[in-house]
Amino acid sequence: MNEVLSIAEASEELDRTLGTETRQAYARVLEVAPHLGVVAVVLGGTYPAFCPSKDGLENSQVEITPERRFYESELASPHFPARFRPFQEFFVARGIVPAVKELVVVAMLHELGHADDYHTYITHANGDTAAAFKTYDHDWRNQVEALPLGGPTSAAEAAWDENIDGYQDQMREAGFTNEAWLAILEANTIAYTQLPQEKIPDNFALQILASIYT
Ligand SMILES: [Zn+2]
Repeated sequence: MNEVLSIAEASEELDRTLGTETRQAYARVLEVAPHLGVVAVVLGGTYPAFCPSKDGLENSQVEITPERRFYESELASPHFPARFRPFQEFFVARGIVPAVKELVVVAMLHELGHADDYHTYITHANGDTAAAFKTYDHDWRNQVEALPLGGPTSAAEAAWDENIDGYQDQMREAGFTNEAWLAILEANTIAYTQLPQEKIPDNFALQILASIYT
């Protein structure tokens, strides 16, 4: 399990097992950003992610969850509308109600958008991949730390739900009621999608989608 695939192989596998149509999207990615052809894909992990490598794009990986259940629970999540808003608008404007099929292609394109952003960092560092990695990682930490909850919503939510290291106790002592907590989770989710390192991949994904769904 979790073998390392090319994006083409991963697309085929996703389309075969989930009934998605990611191959067309992938073909378009290679036209727009041929440098992404070297990025490896692992079908696994608990949520889609981009893992940059200090050695450059060739050793960087995109992880795509192949489990239908993950996408179904995303669709049902209370945070989904805030996180998915630009894509929701995109699909609804084309008469499509987003479901698992759309979510998978968005996830793949978004993570490839992270890889494309990382490629920009490498270009700006004149090909010094170690320097690019350092800047990329530094920028990411700064952006995430500036969020209302100081980190991604999923991490804060888990810390609250499971009271990790007394997190919920401390937040309640600081005056957070259930209602206030849900409000800040929502604000945090919206702020997360507005982080430069999240907006760039979203825009990359929307650009590819716009050339497919005309
Ligand atoms: Zn992202």
